[in-house]
Amino acid sequence: MITHAKEAEKFNKDEARVDWHDDTLWFVRQKRDRMAHNIPEWEQLREKASQIKNHTLSNLDQYLIQFEKHALANGVHVHWAANAVEHNQIVFQIIQKHGFQKIVKSKSMLTEECHLNEFLISQGIEVIDTDLGERIVQLRHEPPSHIVLPAIHLKKEDVGETFHQHLGTEKGAKDPQYLTEAARQHLREKFIAADLALTGVNFAVAETGGIVVCTNEGNADMGAHLANVHIACMGIEKIIPRQADLSVFLRLLARSATGQPITTYSSHFLRPAPGKEMHIVLVDNGRTEQLARADFRNSLKCIRCAACFNTCPVYRRSGGHSYHTAVAGPIGSILAPNIDMRKYADLPFASTLCGSCSNVCPVKIDIHDQLWKWRQILAQEGHTGTAKATGMKLMSAVLSNPDIYRFAGSTGRWFLRHVPSLASNSLNPWFKQREMPEPPKESFRDWYMKNRKKPKGE
Ligand code: SF4
Repeated sequence: MITHAKEAEKFNKDEARVDWHDDTLWFVRQKRDRMAHNIPEWEQLREKASQIKNHTLSNLDQYLIQFEKHALANGVHVHWAANAVEHNQIVFQIIQKHGFQKIVKSKSMLTEECHLNEFLISQGIEVIDTDLGERIVQLRHEPPSHIVLPAIHLKKEDVGETFHQHLGTEKGAKDPQYLTEAARQHLREKFIAADLALTGVNFAVAETGGIVVCTNEGNADMGAHLANVHIACMGIEKIIPRQADLSVFLRLLARSATGQPITTYSSHFLRPAPGKEMHIVLVDNGRTEQLARADFRNSLKCIRCAACFNTCPVYRRSGGHSYHTAVAGPIGSILAPNIDMRKYADLPFASTLCGSCSNVCPVKIDIHDQLWKWRQILAQEGHTGTAKATGMKLMSAVLSNPDIYRFAGSTGRWFLRHVPSLASNSLNPWFKQREMPEPPKESFRDWYMKNRKKPKGE
C-alpha cells in the first residue's frame, strides 16, 4: 500500500534536492509574507473572504441554481456531474459530438482529481497540458507535485534533459530562457492545431453566470480564443455570489500563492464568441458529502492558493508526490480522506500540527484542527493499522494508571541504559536519522520529590 511515509523516504534519498525544494518553497512563503504585510487591511480581507465563502456554502444550492440560470441565459451549455466518471463522460461526449481529436488544457486540478487525461488518452484523444510546469510533468509522465507550481520538484537540469528527449533541444541545455522559448514554440503549434480548449475555473459568479480563470502564462486565453469549443470544468465550491466579491479574492489569491500583487491574467469568460461554443461542467465528486461533515465543511472555502503547502515543514521536506493524491499538502490531506478514507488514512498524520497552514490560509480554514479531527475519525473507524492501534491502546493503559506509568518509566530507563539496541535499531524508523539520547537516571517526578522546597510545617 502506498503511504506518505514510504513515498517521502524515496524523496528524502536525495538530500541536496530536499534542501533545495525546502529553500525554494520557503522563499515563496517569504514573498507571500512581504506582500501580506504591505497591505494594512490584510486581516480584514481574510475575514471578509472567509465570511463570503461561509455564506456561500450555507446557500450553495441557491447560488448554483442562480449561476446556472445566468450561464444558460448567456448562451453557455451547463452540465452537472455527480462524480469523476460522469465528469469524464460529459467531456468525452462533447469531444465525440464534434469528432475532435486534439484538445489543449490549461491548468485544472479538478481534471487531475478526475484523471481526465488518462481517460481521454485511452479513448484516442490527444491531450496537451499548456501550463509550462504541467507540460513538463506531462512529458515526464508524472503528476503535478504542487497545485500552483506543478514542476517545483524539478531543477532546470531535469527540465533540460526532458526537453532534449521530447522537444529536441540541445543536450545539456539548462538556460531557463532558452528552454522556455523551446516550450513556447512547441506549445504554439499545439494551440493552433487544437480543436477544443479545456480550462479550470478559479471563481464562478452567481449573479452573472460568468467565470474567472487566473493564469500567469495566458494559456487559458490562448486556448479558449483559438479553439471553437471551450469547456470549463469546476468544482461546485468555486461559486461566489457577486462580481464585487472578486475584488476580495483576486487580491488574496496571487499574494498568497506566489507573492505577486495580482496574477498576470485574470480572464473573465461570460458567453461564447459568435459562432463558437462554451460549456461549463459543475462537478460534485464528494463535495456535498464534505459539506455535510460539520467539522470539515469549511475546507470547501479553499481557493487553491497553495500557501499552506509552501509553509508546511512536512510538505517542503517530503515533496508533493509523497501525498499520492491530486491535491497534496495540508489541504489535500483534509480533502482526500473524504473521497476514500482507507486509501488516504495516512495523510492527516503527515503533519506536525504546528498550525502554520491555518495562519497563512487566506480564507481562514482551520486546517491543522481538521487534520487532528481526521486522525480521531480514522482511529475510530479502524483505519490506523494494527500496530498503531495496539500501541495506542497500550499507551492509553500506561498513561491512565500512575503505578503502571512509574513502573514502565523505570523499566524503560533500565533497558535504555543496559540494552539500548532494543530501541535504537534498524527496525525502528525513529532512529534512522537520530541518535539515542542519554537516558536519565531518574524520572522528573523522583527528582522533584527529592529537590522541591518543602513548605513550612511539612
Ligand atoms: S487551504 Fe487555504 S492556504 Fe491552503 S490552498 Fe486552500 S486557500 Fe490556500
